[in-house]
Amino acid sequence: MLILRPGCESCDRDLPADSADALICSFECTFCRACAERLHRRCPNCAGDLVRRPIRPPEALARHPASTLRVHRPLA
Ligand SMILES: [Zn+2]
Ligand SMILES: [Zn+2]
Repeated sequence: MLILRPGCESCDRDLPADSADALICSFECTFCRACAERLHRRCPNCAGDLVRRPIRPPEALARHPASTLRVHRPLA
């Protein structure tokens, strides 16, 4: 199950669970669309593909809430 991180790892922009602008790698490193494009959709941590994070339907989100733990690792 995805933990659904609450923000972009690079620019710290909010990426709520219902955002269509969140992209993730297989380890769930999480980036906003603008940062993902800048990175050519390749994760800077693991070199994996960044793909659009699926949106968890509201009923499921109520039972399995998104993570509130912010991960912010600004790129040099
Ligand atoms: Zn960003
Ligand atoms: Zn990664």
